Amino acid sequence: MQTDKQSVSKEEREELVKRLTPLQYRVTQHKITERPFTGEYLKLNDNGLYCCVVCGEEIFSSESKYESGCGWPAFDGVINNDKVKHNIDLSHVGSNLLLLALRSDVARTEVSCARCGAHLGHVFDDGPKTTGKRYCVPRRPKTVAQKYDKQRPHL
Ligand SMILES: [Zn+2]
Repeated sequence: MQTDKQSVSKEEREELVKRLTPLQYRVTQHKITERPFTGEYLKLNDNGLYCCVVCGEEIFSSESKYESGCGWPAFDGVINNDKVKHNIDLSHVGSNLLLLALRSDVARTEVSCARCGAHLGHVFDDGPKTTGKRYCVPRRPKTVAQKYDKQRPHL
């Protein structure tokens, strides 16, 4: 019995628990955000593709990576808009609906993998001029979009 189209089956969940580290699992499946400035790939500038750690889908290219100063790797776009889904995220607002009514800009946009539904991060509208977008992706060793292969040709 599935409550939404992207929920994973019990078997898939057990497989993910075995395959992913506890932190990877919590980030991708429960949308926790890792602490800023902790990812080993934060300052990595080699050419390559950043893939979904759950299903392997190629999401970001190093060509769109830039230094935003936010403490997490940032990209100004995805390889293809079909690769991700955008969802309104009000989890940080909690039950403070008055705050939401007064400041609609507090609503964040969550980015998830279109193929498997894994949480990837958030997107903001304060990116560089080329796209105006800032995809902020939690990324510490072996968490979201951790798979990184220098051998692959970049787009
Ligand atoms: Zn995925």
